[in-house]
Amino acid sequence: MRIGFIGLGNMGQGMAANLLAYCKAHGFEFRVFDINKSAMQPIVTGGAMAARTIAGIAEQSDVIFTSLPSSKQVSEIAFGPMGLLAKLPQGATWFETSTSDLSKWRKLLDSAPEHLTLIDAPVTGGTEGAAAGTLTMLLGLNAPLTEAQSSLLQSFTKKQVVMGPPGAGYIAKLSQLHLNYLVAQGIGEALMLGAKGGLDLTVLSDVLSHSCAQSYVVDNYIPKVLDGSYDNSFALGLARKDMRLVKQLGDHLEIDMPLAHKVTESYETAVDHYGHDAPHLSVVRLIEDKSGKNLQP
Ligand code: NAD
Repeated sequence: MRIGFIGLGNMGQGMAANLLAYCKAHGFEFRVFDINKSAMQPIVTGGAMAARTIAGIAEQSDVIFTSLPSSKQVSEIAFGPMGLLAKLPQGATWFETSTSDLSKWRKLLDSAPEHLTLIDAPVTGGTEGAAAGTLTMLLGLNAPLTEAQSSLLQSFTKKQVVMGPPGAGYIAKLSQLHLNYLVAQGIGEALMLGAKGGLDLTVLSDVLSHSCAQSYVVDNYIPKVLDGSYDNSFALGLARKDMRLVKQLGDHLEIDMPLAHKVTESYETAVDHYGHDAPHLSVVRLIEDKSGKNLQP
């Protein structure tokens, strides 16, 4: 079997490293491609083959994975005479692990030749989950996975959940993200109550982690606000993209979601203030700036 991986960013690095180990152990070819050549270096040094173009990696992949910033890049590499849809071989499978726009994915599904299988397969678990191989993958597909496909997914994810037909993986991912960002934004207000009320934020943070407000976001994000790093493993601009997708899906499904509108607005404002490439928890800086008080002890 020949495996390909496109997009070796924060998430792709970890996922590809785990896939490479699996491919080496099973004698499978493993190729990678990224428009940023330096992003390919670590994995190529580890033994992966470097493709020069999208067409080059597509032609030589029976199974291909993508981890790209948004649907814009997913569509760019898919369409056209040198894109995945034209160049993937007969019977190939494409697992799309990015957080993408459902309507654009549906366009891709409609345009794909019948011999290809396209599976939306977004992941959750962050860069630490990608590196450790403990991600949860949310799948939208028609036919059950083959044994070979399942083994491949198990080499870099801990849990694989079939959410329903094509598109269902993205819907599940957006539902998860909505809660994630809602709580992430809430961190700022909750900590500011403590800060302005004169509490020790390190003690408060420990209390929150041992209270009924406890969650992954509380446990993992609060320390990255308190140390002033705001979490470099994910860009603020990508968080804004995600919240736009949440709001868009809510509008499409005709659901009144005032919280989604409010949270999206905050991420829009945060990107305006701190830039696309700022760490995603910079959204908390909005309340720090407005309150004239930093949250770092
Ligand atoms: P990233 O920006 O760090 O990585 C994206 C990679 O894609 C970069 O290396 C970039 O050079 C490459 N790329 C861009 N355009 C390309 C093209 N046309 N051809 C080939 N390569 C191209 O992003 P990330 O944080 O790794 O996230 C990837 C996806 O996973 C996003 O959709 C994101 O929303 C989602 N996601 C991220 C996290 C996280 O914690 N970082 C968690 C879950 C899901």
